[in-house]
Amino acid sequence: MCIIGSGISAAMVADKLALTRAGTIVVVESGDEMPPLDRRAALRQRFLDYDENPWPRDHLDGYEVEGPLQSRSMCVGGLAMHWGGVTPRFSPEDFRLQSQFGVGTDWPISYEDLEAHYLEAEEVLGVAGEQGPSEMDPRSKPFPMPMLPLTYNLSLLKDWVAKAGITMWSQPSAKNSVPYAGRAECCRNDTCTPICPIGAKYSPDFTWNALRRANRVQIHTRTLVRRLEVDERNRVERAVAVSRDAAGGEIEFRAKQFVVAGGYVWSSHLLLTSRTARFPNGIANGSGLVGKYLTGHRNVQAYVRLPIKLYPGINEQHSLVSKQFMRVPRRSDGRYLRHDLRVWESASGQGPRLRGDSGALMLGDEILSDWRRRTEQGVARLRAYYDVIPDRASELTLDTSRKNQWGDPLPKLAFRDAPESAEARAWTEDTIKGLFNEMARAGNGQVQRTQSDEFQDHPAGGCRMGSDPATSVTDSWGRTHDHENLFVVGAPTCVSGSCANATLTFCALSLRSAEEIGRSLPSKSS
Ligand SMILES: Cc1cc2nc3c(=O)[nH]c(=O)nc-3n(C[C@H](O)[C@H](O)[C@H](O)COP(=O)(O)OP(=O)(O)OC[C@H]3O[C@@H](n4cnc5c(N)ncnc54)[C@H](O)[C@@H]3O)c2cc1C
Ligand code: SF4
Repeated sequence: MCIIGSGISAAMVADKLALTRAGTIVVVESGDEMPPLDRRAALRQRFLDYDENPWPRDHLDGYEVEGPLQSRSMCVGGLAMHWGGVTPRFSPEDFRLQSQFGVGTDWPISYEDLEAHYLEAEEVLGVAGEQGPSEMDPRSKPFPMPMLPLTYNLSLLKDWVAKAGITMWSQPSAKNSVPYAGRAECCRNDTCTPICPIGAKYSPDFTWNALRRANRVQIHTRTLVRRLEVDERNRVERAVAVSRDAAGGEIEFRAKQFVVAGGYVWSSHLLLTSRTARFPNGIANGSGLVGKYLTGHRNVQAYVRLPIKLYPGINEQHSLVSKQFMRVPRRSDGRYLRHDLRVWESASGQGPRLRGDSGALMLGDEILSDWRRRTEQGVARLRAYYDVIPDRASELTLDTSRKNQWGDPLPKLAFRDAPESAEARAWTEDTIKGLFNEMARAGNGQVQRTQSDEFQDHPAGGCRMGSDPATSVTDSWGRTHDHENLFVVGAPTCVSGSCANATLTFCALSLRSAEEIGRSLPSKSS
């Protein structure tokens, strides 16, 4: 079988099939190899000393996208070579927004259908976590690793939020709290973004290295698939690619099964650029929905000054999390609002300064005593990701005015809220800010500033799943409705973006797809 892309979703599919199925797995990746683990400490040092990109050659020149893009990273391992490794699950409500709240669209699967695959994904990545209260954080088995220990600061902040009636626990992360899968324990020194020098954070290269060592995958790097071609029986018969090293000349990949694992941008893009006279709107696009319903979540943040002495700087990116506001019933006023809640320590406004509150210049000891006075108190960062219901016109389209070096149109992205979300946006953000104010009051603190970002995080969608071929691109397994041997996996198949980091869900969905893909491949023992 042929997998297009080598990001985290592709790694999940290849890993599961290599373990359970016989046959050749070919992966085609447009980007370059990334530096091996033993070079990462030096790359980190150069990043600190010279601000150099620690991931050289991690994107394709001439492959710019118009519209908000999470990252330009295209390389072996994809975006998750750079990720933060934060791995919460969605909640059961995410899969039934229409039937429970009357907004958006229900998924064709439930949380319960995905639960075994969440566990599997947590095992493969190696997730360290704390079980939250089971009514808020349902799971059938413990995390593979104990939680990353809470810092002194987070334990103080946990007591503070409890005073506001909020239960929080340690955010799960794909970082080793103990040595795991041959990789080191996280020493919590905080350089995960942009690079973990010791491999304590999971990245897909670890899976690819193991599969290559076992001779279970062939990865063709620097090879860009330009289109998929369909035979008269409506099966994809070949992927047509170009090598970035050779001038001209196309390369063909033939396989029984094709898996598009190009992430939320390039998966829809490839289906759309595979247009022919027979498929003028691209392949797998009988519904006209390829590229539509791009989804994600927006955030509201606040910095709160509290009468608590914190010592910032230890594992600062680790946070507390709550699902208290995700697991909500339908409101009696008919309005819709769901969000997660996270709390970090923060050094915001805690550094030395030259001018005091009045704006007057300070010199010498005055600077030090001002600094001492301000650090008697701590600052917490609060953030809520909230649900944005995607509009059909939240879309990726082909931009015929901008082409890559092979003459293919580049994608254009526009995220648009469905009317119910657009109408509720101001109220949603005000309500969340109101909650932040209440939390601050409960700790005798004060909100210093708030902000809401325009972009939608953890983008997904574009090939959404569903039971009805008229309103979706794939079935619940990621199999395209139009082509029996063509699967799309991970992010693009999401119906909605939840209000929590989404990559663990992309992984669980990919593992579920692998189960179905594997049914048509010989088992390892046969
Ligand atoms: C800085 C940063 C921090 C993040 N932190 C978190 C976090 O803490 N938690 C979380 O949940 N998420 C996080 N994310 C998001 C997470 O990294 C992504 O959701 C995830 O990695 C997406 O994986 P993917 O497999 O869907 O796609 P990608 O990683 O985009 O992989 C797709 C791959 O396919 C290749 N490809 C595409 N089209 C073609 C083609 N036609 N031919 C050949 N190859 C092709 C691309 O080159 C790419 O390598 C973060 C992202 C960034 C950038
Ligand atoms: S804190 Fe350090 S060791 Fe732990 S995952 Fe981040 S970079 Fe790696």
